Amino acid sequence: MKLKKNEHKAKIGIIGGTGANIEIENEEIIKVYTPYGQTSDNIRIGDFKGKKVAFIPRHGKGHVIPPHKLNFRANVWALSELGVRCIISPSAVGSLRKEHEKGKFILVDQYIDRTKKRIDTFYEGGQVCHISQEDPYCSYLNNLLYEAGRNINGLNIQKGGTYVCIEGPRFSTRSESLMFRKWGGDIIGMTTYPEVVLAAEKQICYCCIATISDLDVWAGYCENCGIVEFAEACENCGRSVKKVAVDVDEVLETMEENAKNLQKILEITIPKIDTERDCECHHSLKGSLL
Ligand SMILES: [Zn+2]
Ligand SMILES: [Zn+2]
Repeated sequence: MKLKKNEHKAKIGIIGGTGANIEIENEEIIKVYTPYGQTSDNIRIGDFKGKKVAFIPRHGKGHVIPPHKLNFRANVWALSELGVRCIISPSAVGSLRKEHEKGKFILVDQYIDRTKKRIDTFYEGGQVCHISQEDPYCSYLNNLLYEAGRNINGLNIQKGGTYVCIEGPRFSTRSESLMFRKWGGDIIGMTTYPEVVLAAEKQICYCCIATISDLDVWAGYCENCGIVEFAEACENCGRSVKKVAVDVDEVLETMEENAKNLQKILEITIPKIDTERDCECHHSLKGSLL
């Protein structure tokens, strides 16, 4: 179906990560043609808690598109074309810190880009764009999400944290994981970059709700001290350190719990978003174009 101009509009966009989904009322499913090729899937557009929203499942129907094959430009361009002014982007991540336990949510405020082969700009020549990424995530949206999240029973949520974005689809070596910790990373994932910078180039408020589903490979287990950095001997007590066994059932359980909490946080936050508000994100191109 071709999008007729002005037929479908939404101010809020959601790029749903692994396990993220919402029920939309008066839903229509539309295809948006972009100069960059196909979006991850057709876009679901309709009402959610009194607001018009547009939803794209980031990895496509049935979770078939791996992170390194995502068409980030098509997704962000399509949402911009629909009139979206705020993008909420949930992302399942691994933890780089003991204090970021499974099930915790982090409202990302910084990233470190370790991707290698992704196109991360709409400006490929002619007009040149050097956009600021000093504070890449929208603090207005992060504040709203934080207020919602801290009132959800049993949810551990933190405002601010550094997302190390790797190319994938492989996971890290232990040396890489230890290095990312030294760099100050809090969590590790494969999708916030370049979504975040493309949203900035379209002057859209953008936030990333990182939902922690596992500990990355830096972690080991000491019988005496619990989770410690993996090494032959525990850095605290010298006992031997075991690998942290991955329990698939436990991972699935955590992801299910995260999906429920994500649904709750969206239900509380989305009605509160003032889409007419003039945010500094809407002026991000000022002084960026040559
Ligand atoms: Zn903003
Ligand atoms: Zn120990």
